[in-house]
Amino acid sequence: MAELADPLPDDDITAIRRSVKGICDRFPGDYWREKDRERAYPTEFVRALTEDGFLSVLIPEAYGGSGLGLRAAVAILEEIHKNGCNAAACHAQMYTMGTLLNHGSDAQKSQWLPAIASGDLRLQAFGVTEPTSGTDTLSLRTTAVRDGDHYVVNGQKVWTSRAEHSDLMLLLARTTPKDQVEKKSGGLSVFVVDMREALGNGLTIRPIRAMINHSSTEVFFENVRVPAGNLLGEEGKGFRYILDGMNAERTLIAAECLGDSTWFIDKAVAYANERNVFGGPIGRNQGIQFPIARAHAETEAARLMVYRAAEMFDRGEPCGPEANMAKLLAADASWHAADMCMQTHGGFAFAEEYDVERKFRETRLYQIAPISTNLILSYVAEHVLGLPRSY
Ligand SMILES: Cc1cc2nc3c(=O)[nH]c(=O)nc-3n(C[C@H](O)[C@H](O)[C@H](O)COP(=O)(O)OP(=O)(O)OC[C@H]3O[C@@H](n4cnc5c(N)ncnc54)[C@H](O)[C@@H]3O)c2cc1C
Repeated sequence: MAELADPLPDDDITAIRRSVKGICDRFPGDYWREKDRERAYPTEFVRALTEDGFLSVLIPEAYGGSGLGLRAAVAILEEIHKNGCNAAACHAQMYTMGTLLNHGSDAQKSQWLPAIASGDLRLQAFGVTEPTSGTDTLSLRTTAVRDGDHYVVNGQKVWTSRAEHSDLMLLLARTTPKDQVEKKSGGLSVFVVDMREALGNGLTIRPIRAMINHSSTEVFFENVRVPAGNLLGEEGKGFRYILDGMNAERTLIAAECLGDSTWFIDKAVAYANERNVFGGPIGRNQGIQFPIARAHAETEAARLMVYRAAEMFDRGEPCGPEANMAKLLAADASWHAADMCMQTHGGFAFAEEYDVERKFRETRLYQIAPISTNLILSYVAEHVLGLPRSY
C-alpha cells in the first residue's frame, strides 16, 4: 500500500483553493465555450495545473509529487468546477496513478511516476469499458496473450477519454479465458501501454463526437505488443487492482460534482437577484427561492459525505460505503442544481453565453460515468445493507 499522507492543516487546504482559483480566473467562460464548440482539448488549462503541481498531489514526494493526499485532491477538483472550469481533461491522472502507485514494482514506479509528476509523461487514458460488455467488466473481451517477453493485445475499448492526449494508457485486459479461471473475478490483468510506441503498430484511436467536450474515443488493438515488464502486479489480479482504485475515483468525481453544484447555485442566486420581471427580482418569488435553497441544502449534505470519505481514505481506513455514497449524493445534488439553474434562468439558460446549458450537459455525465447511479445503489444495497446480489 502507498504511504499514508500526513493530515493536511485546514490553512493549507485554503491556500490550495486560493491558488487553484487564481488559475481558473485566467480561463473564463469564453475559453471553455470555444473549446466546447470546437470539441478541442484545453491544453493551456491542463498545462497551467501541471506546472503548478496540482495534478501530482497524490504522487509521493519520493517520486516527485507533493504527496498531499486525497483531501488536497478533492479541494483542487472541487475548486476547478466551482469556478466554472472542467477537470475532465486531466482528472484521470489523479486516480489511475493510484493503481501504479499501489501495485507497480519499485522499478515501474521509478520509471514512470517522476515523469508523470513533472508533466513530461501523461497518464490520462484508462481503458476499461468495451462496447459489448459495458458495466459488466468481467465479461470484457480484449485479450493479452503472453508471447516471449511481450503480451500481444487484441480487442477494442470504447469511451476511452483523452486517449489522443495521453502518452500512457492503463489497460485492463483478459489474460486467462473466462471459462478457465478459478474465481470469477480472476483472469484480468492491468498493463501500462505506451501509446507513443503502439500508435501505428496495431493501435488505432478514433474520436467519438459526444454531447460534451470530453475527448472521448474508441481504441482498437490489433496485435499490439506490450512488454511483459509493463504488467502491473500479478497476472490475473487486475480486476482487484482496479477496484482498489475506485474509492479514490468515486471521491474525486464527487468533488467535481460539488464544485458544479456550487457553481449552479451561485449563478442562480446572482440571476434571481438581478432579473426583474413583474416589477421586481424573480428571486423574491418562493417558486424561485425554494429550489435554490433545496439545492444548497442537498449540496451541503453531500459535501459532508465527500469530505468524510476523503479523510477516511487519507487515514488509510476502508471507505467503500462512504466513497460510493459521496458520489451518489454529490452527483444527485449537482444534477438537481443544474435543473434548478436552468429553470431560474428561463429562456436565457439556453443561450450559450450564459454557460448554463454547457454545464448542464457536463454535469449530466455523472449519473452515468465513471459509474452509473444504479451500480452505486447496487453496491450500497448489497455490500452495506446485506441485500441479495442482483447481477
Ligand atoms: C463521456 C464519457 C467518458 C467516459 N470515459 C471512460 C474512460 O475514460 N474509460 C472507460 O473505461 N470508460 C469510460 N466511460 C464509460 C463509462 O464508464 C460507462 O459508460 C458506464 O460505466 C456505463 O457503461 P455502459 O455505457 O456500457 O452502460 P451499460 O452497462 O450498457 O448500462 C446501461 C444502463 O443500464 C444500467 N444497468 C446495467 N446493468 C445494471 C444492473 N445490473 N442493475 C441496474 N442497472 C443496470 C446502467 O446503470 C445504465 O444506466 C465513459 C463514458 C462516457 C459517456
